[in-house]
Amino acid sequence: MYNRPIYLDCHATTPVDERVLAVMLPYFTEYFGNPSSSGHIYGWEAEAGVKQARDTLAKAINASLEEIVFTSGATEANNLAIKGIAEAYFSKGRHIITLQTEHSAVLDPCNYLRGVGFEITILPVQPDGLIDLDIFQQALRPETILVSVMAANNEIGVLQPLAEIGAICRAAGVLFHTDAAQAIGKIPLDVEEMKIDLLSMTAHKIYGAKGIGALYVRRRNPRVQLSAQLHGGGHERSRRSGTLYPPQIVGFAKAVEIALAQMETETKRLTTLRQNLWQQLSKLEGIYLNGHPTQRLPGNLNISVEGVDGAALLLGLQPIVAVSSGSACSSATIAPSHVLTALGHSETLAYASVRFGIGRFNTACEIELVAQHVTATISSLRRQKTRV
Ligand SMILES: *Cc1c(COP(=O)(O)O)cnc(C)c1O
Repeated sequence: MYNRPIYLDCHATTPVDERVLAVMLPYFTEYFGNPSSSGHIYGWEAEAGVKQARDTLAKAINASLEEIVFTSGATEANNLAIKGIAEAYFSKGRHIITLQTEHSAVLDPCNYLRGVGFEITILPVQPDGLIDLDIFQQALRPETILVSVMAANNEIGVLQPLAEIGAICRAAGVLFHTDAAQAIGKIPLDVEEMKIDLLSMTAHKIYGAKGIGALYVRRRNPRVQLSAQLHGGGHERSRRSGTLYPPQIVGFAKAVEIALAQMETETKRLTTLRQNLWQQLSKLEGIYLNGHPTQRLPGNLNISVEGVDGAALLLGLQPIVAVSSGSACSSATIAPSHVLTALGHSETLAYASVRFGIGRFNTACEIELVAQHVTATISSLRRQKTRV
């Protein structure tokens, strides 16, 4: 029988948890109504499921249910936040601040806005991937309307100091958006404590389905204005039109509920697995850790490997472990990722890199096997190279 490789690419996506699937299924066939149909029970049933899910998601970040806008995922939530704020506040100012290591779903909307007359400051990060709060503070201007800094990085797992950033933004009267696609359900998030005004989330990174996400939009202190990007039936208080998707929505809430209930034990378990993997791999010469050693997602390990070709390394790993690469030296077709480039060390640019995303369904046994295989593959590629 053909065995599929061990899945260690949980920053790209995750499988749907069986418990999530179980709550979704009745909403496809039995409670199939349109939540907007207010004239009969089919609509009420669907609306009841959506309302409960909205409440669960809001409570997960210490918000209230009117502040949750459902979207197709974090890409759409980021676009709605950034373009929606730009359109609503352009008469106040046209300056936005973000980070070099943001996901393209933040950087690309910002670049789009630059093309239509906004000024975008893209801040560098420190060599460990963290924001430099002094440089950040100096970048704020009277005409700054929005700061967008992610909660957890999708490549190097680095956790930004949200409460510090939020406090600086609030004091300056600037709105604070965070892309929490990788963070929700994995680290504690509190929009009050962290003074977050807009927060993007998605289900498929936490064992929910693809195609569903949400944007939190603060309603008081301050009340955030947002220009809709999808116009139509006026759903979601006219902030995002389009028929709601109850199966995905109830599943999303269940996924968050499970993640929160398991957060403490999973953090411990995944941290141990990641540390074991790193302990084994760092026995080799010329292996470097990318990103802050401890202020990172428990399941994230991102390494640069000296003296091997990135494409050859991935090819060697493929049959045993499914991972993703951030860069590849000497492979003309693959450029180093913008995140690794932003860290600014020469080794992350010149060397091959691998991102391991360890998740809920990985076992200690699998990690041991992966450690052995990665070690053997790197050693073998290096031997071949010296022979040439
Ligand atoms: C996955 C991811 C996204 C995109 O989310 P989708 O729901 O797939 O659109 C955005 N930002 C970060 C940090 C991500 O990890």
